[in-house]
Amino acid sequence: MKSIYLDTGATTHLKKEILNEMMPYLTYNYGNASSIYTLGKKSKMAIEDSRIKIAEALNCEKSEIYFTSGATESNNWALKGIALANKTRGTHIITTKIEHPSVLKTCEFLEKQGFEITYLPVDEYGLISLDQLQDAITDKTILISVMFANNEIGTIQPIEEIGEICNKNNIYFHTDAVQALGKVPIYVKKYNIDLLSLSGHKIYAPKGTGILYIKNGINIENLIHGGSQENGMRPGTESVANCVGIGKAISLITKDIESRNKKIRILRDKLINKIHKNIGCAKLNGHPTQRLSNNINFSLRDVNGTMLTLILDVLGICVSSGSACSCKSKKPSHVLLALGLSETLATESIRITLSEEITDSQIDYIFNQLSKVIDEIRINTL
Ligand code: PMP
Repeated sequence: MKSIYLDTGATTHLKKEILNEMMPYLTYNYGNASSIYTLGKKSKMAIEDSRIKIAEALNCEKSEIYFTSGATESNNWALKGIALANKTRGTHIITTKIEHPSVLKTCEFLEKQGFEITYLPVDEYGLISLDQLQDAITDKTILISVMFANNEIGTIQPIEEIGEICNKNNIYFHTDAVQALGKVPIYVKKYNIDLLSLSGHKIYAPKGTGILYIKNGINIENLIHGGSQENGMRPGTESVANCVGIGKAISLITKDIESRNKKIRILRDKLINKIHKNIGCAKLNGHPTQRLSNNINFSLRDVNGTMLTLILDVLGICVSSGSACSCKSKKPSHVLLALGLSETLATESIRITLSEEITDSQIDYIFNQLSKVIDEIRINTL
């Protein structure tokens, strides 16, 4: 049986060439990067080389790159750090209803600390309205946090326009760019982004790796307190191998963005069209064009998403019935509900996120399996 992994939105495997670069720092180059002898300096140099690579990929200064344990930490740091450091200036934050739980739960926490949060709605395609964003701003607004692209439906927000609004109103702009990295070019300066979160394990680096870009001069409090690592702003003995791994992954994924994504987009559209043409009552969730090149999300009437995922798993195909962070929860996806789907339709959904390795013949195979399983489920629920 062929096994096909279609859940790169949840995670990716560790690429051999990334592991190879990490290996010395997992074995013989084990020095503490804070030690002043040669073994320590080798670790320090490896971290700084990686920081330079990441800064080049994002077109920013290396002093603006901070290594974290993942995007959950990056998002927590961005929101709590800005809130704490700027509360005398204002206590209002704007975000959206479709953010990742690491943003939404952090906002809930900040609400308990006395901050006021506005959760912007989205339209049927998952886009926020720039007019509504503008109207939500008050003289107390200190931060706007809008994800670059959504992890469930792939919709890409108008980031440049949001950045302009933030800049004009002197409000910090944070974006969670976990899913966008490597799919669309990211220009932190051009888009007026002050803080940007990234995760390594969606781009073939190890799990437990992340980045927070913090524009120089931003007023931000630490999330973690301790020693002087990461300029004293994110202390803790550095995981050198992880820093090297995510640096290599970011430099690989930000090369040839156009050509790599063109191929995936063509195959994605082939599968979307086949589903639309041949499978009844199938609704594409997310924006038809302003969406990530690898993302497909369908609601399929009378087909429970969890059941479909489990049956496809038996056939060797990995898809997701929601985002990996929420698929264990019994509740329908907050993202699909925000698009206006009914609770039932929201549970009748699957997300397919294609990998770079996907081939044309695999698309045909996936479609055939999908179509058979959907027919069977529908017959059995009649
Ligand atoms: N934001 C988005 C959009 C994500 O998809 C994820 C991972 N599911 C995260 C944040 C959290 O990243 P990590 O797993 O590195 O904590």
